[in-house]
Amino acid sequence: MAETKYIFVTGGVVSSLGKGIISSSIGKLLQARGYNITIQKFDPYINIDPGTLNPYEHGECYVTEDGLETDLDLGHYERFTGIRTTHANNITTGRIYKNVIEKERRGDYLGKTIQVVPHITDEIKRNIKQLGIKYKFDFVITEIGGTIGDIESAPFLEAIRQFKWENEGNAINIHLTYVPYLSAAKEIKTKPTQSSVKQLQSQGIQPDILVLRTEHHLDDSIRRKVANFCNVAPDAVIQSEDMPSIYQVPVNLQNQGLDEIILKKLGLPVGERPGLGPWRNFLDRREKATEEVHIALVGKYDLQDAYKSILESLAHAGVYNDHKVRTHFINSEQVTADNVATLLSGVQGVVICPGFGQRGIEGKITAARYTREHDIPTFGICLGMQMMVIEFARNVLGYADANSREMDETTRHNVIDIMEEQKAVTHMGGTMRLGAYECDIRKGSRTWEAYGRQEKVFERHRHRYEFNNHYTAQYEQNGMQCVGINPESNLVEIVEIPQLKWYIGTQFHPEYSSTVLRPHPLFMSFVEAAIAGKQPC
Ligand code: GLN
Repeated sequence: MAETKYIFVTGGVVSSLGKGIISSSIGKLLQARGYNITIQKFDPYINIDPGTLNPYEHGECYVTEDGLETDLDLGHYERFTGIRTTHANNITTGRIYKNVIEKERRGDYLGKTIQVVPHITDEIKRNIKQLGIKYKFDFVITEIGGTIGDIESAPFLEAIRQFKWENEGNAINIHLTYVPYLSAAKEIKTKPTQSSVKQLQSQGIQPDILVLRTEHHLDDSIRRKVANFCNVAPDAVIQSEDMPSIYQVPVNLQNQGLDEIILKKLGLPVGERPGLGPWRNFLDRREKATEEVHIALVGKYDLQDAYKSILESLAHAGVYNDHKVRTHFINSEQVTADNVATLLSGVQGVVICPGFGQRGIEGKITAARYTREHDIPTFGICLGMQMMVIEFARNVLGYADANSREMDETTRHNVIDIMEEQKAVTHMGGTMRLGAYECDIRKGSRTWEAYGRQEKVFERHRHRYEFNNHYTAQYEQNGMQCVGINPESNLVEIVEIPQLKWYIGTQFHPEYSSTVLRPHPLFMSFVEAAIAGKQPC
């Protein structure tokens, strides 16, 4: 395609409407037509990236292969489209200002007064354009975080207004709103949508397409009414009803011709509607899977979004194993030696979750001990792997005070230690071991089998501490094998106990790279092992 096309996705009325899912679905539909696409998110907060945010503030922190800590929506982008995102795909207000201030200090602005318009808005536009040009994408879909009317989003909206005007014919705005149903009046209300569009128009942006989020089906008269009030053609008013699975959203939008409307608005040929074959197969298989497998997530954040990628990875693996994965959150702060058997009764697999800090770690260690001693399939991820290692040191190697330096700086048995390059770190933000690193897998190990006998994998990291190689031989002699090693640094990336059914811990986060069409091999194999352990009814 000669010129890159730009799609801006904004949201109105309320937050949490699922702009990320809509943006991902649009990406999927355009990709199915053979276009080279990417999805970018602008977050209107001042943090440089969400890496320092507590998951209670902003859910999971997702990590790109090139090592950026990002918003969890980037996880949706990757899971839907299979494309890999980078540093250029998530930009916050903080980063925009940082770039502008750095340029100002360098003297790039030649004595000018630096202002929101044009300097901040130009920097926003540069970040949108650059992505399309640098990687030669046919489409750049840019999701603007927050809700229309927020003070924080104003510079982004102004940048979109200018961008649309400067790139007429090559840029459109899709506005997502909420249409509530008032049960007392038994009526669907379009007024919030009208107000939201008016607000957008007052900022100089006319939406080209509206996507209405609704819990009830909207009939044509509602769509026509909205179209009429909002200067949008009736066929460009699309509805996005609640679906049993987020992965049904692209199909629902395609049934209403959303991709065709986008192509028409951007002056592109429409052609045949693509079949979405493998995607539909996934949905069919998901639908047909009626048997359940129960997996416990032992973690400290009692909040769905904190473990988003793990939940999705388990769901993907469930579908391809023809099972529904039922996850049970177990708060690690409440796990004790006395109640662990009861808390884990009825589950066929246990994930020991990632995390930071002291809170809840003893519960994770107790869970790791119980599943090791009772041979329940267990998957330890990052901090979860570290807890498996500490548990083994305390109860098998006999080091009762074994710990991680993160939790106890003075421990004599620091089986998890601070990484050498981390010792000098003074700033918390963006300074961990981040992004994808190579890992060599020991031939013949359980992990090697699980990976489909691959001897080299590339997985994403986000941690400061590591397995202490001083203890490697002792672990190996006593039954815990270090089967994944970074070839450059010799860091231990994977441990396993081959005598058990499935007891594997990874220092990296495999959950970041599971996608709908390519479930992650470790999650596949873990779920398979959990299913195999089900008691016959
Ligand atoms: N807190 C641990 C570390 O920094 C583990 C981090 C994680 O689970 N992502 O090494």
